[in-house]
Amino acid sequence: KAKDAGRNTYKFYERSMNLKTHELLLLENDLRHALSRDQLELYYQPQLDLQSNCIVGFEALLRWNHPERGLVSPLEFIPLAEETGLIVSMGEWILRSACRQIRTWNEEHGRQLRVAVNISARQFHHYDLVHCVEKVLEQTGVPTEWLELEITESLLMYDIQSSIETMMRLKKLGVRLAIDDFGTGYSSLSYLKKFPICSLKIDKSFVDDLLTDASDAAIAESTLALASKMDLMVVAEGIEQQEQLDYLQQRGCQFGQGYLISRPLPVAQCTQFCRERFTEDCARQSSQSDS
Ligand code: C2E
Ligand code: MG
Ligand code: MG
Ligand code: MG
Repeated sequence: KAKDAGRNTYKFYERSMNLKTHELLLLENDLRHALSRDQLELYYQPQLDLQSNCIVGFEALLRWNHPERGLVSPLEFIPLAEETGLIVSMGEWILRSACRQIRTWNEEHGRQLRVAVNISARQFHHYDLVHCVEKVLEQTGVPTEWLELEITESLLMYDIQSSIETMMRLKKLGVRLAIDDFGTGYSSLSYLKKFPICSLKIDKSFVDDLLTDASDAAIAESTLALASKMDLMVVAEGIEQQEQLDYLQQRGCQFGQGYLISRPLPVAQCTQFCRERFTEDCARQSSQSDS
């Protein structure tokens, strides 16, 4: 009897394993067509200068509008896109869309806002990345300094020498580089000075418990101190509470993003958000210069 039960459990286990693989295969198959079927969309999350409260740029975040599943999280499909190599063609589309969009916004508002694009491991280590970035910048007519690439530290540690070379070539183009999810990987601090980067992004996991967890606060503060010594900028991500924002602002964190300021928004809503914010900014700035 016990043996039967065991066998059933095993069968059940096996079946659910197969189901999962089958699910993934289906998803993977759908993903192959997502780009050509126009199911991919970039959302944009505003980034603020925490001292002046002005918008300085946006992070582009990919969304997949699946016809049956609805919105699929990038945490689910980016790894699939990586495995299958689809990330390379998707990545080019992401870069081009983000560059076109920042140009549209900057032209509309007469600003120099930047757009941050996430680059995944396979994309970064692909031989053609630098050429792809250069081509997209040329085609879209976007000044190189409007584009920032976010790279995670674990991605850089995979092959440090070639990572440094790729980063040098990107920097030579004039593109800005940021380390995403800083503090969550295993990078040795000694490499940091070899990376030609502009900024560090404090991971949301440290911002979450900033006010209640002494170690998270210590990590955030050390990151700020390190960045200031090394002349790097800091962007804090995942700011959800006013107290977190105040804390970071008081400790000299220049930039931030998070639900408190705005969720990632589809283009039309982000355009609206900017129009309102810019009107406020202008009103505030002119009233400051009046007084
Ligand atoms: P990430 O680059 O670290 O992006 C930050 C994530 O935190 C985003 O999740 C964003 O929506 C979310 N977030 C921002 N502020 C808050 C907040 O206040 N509270 C909470 N709870 N979450 C916040 P998202 O959009 O689901 O993206 C997840 C990850 O997927 C990204 O992490 C990035 O690694 C990857 N990803 C997203 N878009 C792209 C892309 O276009 N290309 C590549 N290669 N990866 C992408
Ligand atoms: Mg990012
Ligand atoms: Mg991040
Ligand atoms: Mg993150």
